[in-house]
Amino acid sequence: MIKIDSEECGVCKDCIDVCPEEAIEQKVYNIVIHPDKCTQCEECIEVCAVGAIYNDEDE
Ligand code: SF4
Ligand code: SF4
Repeated sequence: MIKIDSEECGVCKDCIDVCPEEAIEQKVYNIVIHPDKCTQCEECIEVCAVGAIYNDEDE
């Protein structure tokens, strides 16, 4: 599953813009990924400048 480390995330919203499935949403203080919409394309991982997004199956 694709996850966001909220400690690292600067809420720049670049991942929201790049996600083709509209699976990423901004909450009040953080960014969340809806796993039911996410197709694990990993485009958000590529775009995140601070490396806050990761696939927990790669660990
Ligand atoms: S691209 Fe990275 S830093 Fe920007 S909102 Fe998404 S997770 Fe946060
Ligand atoms: S992996 Fe792809 S579909 Fe899933 S949240 Fe990231 S950009 Fe959206």
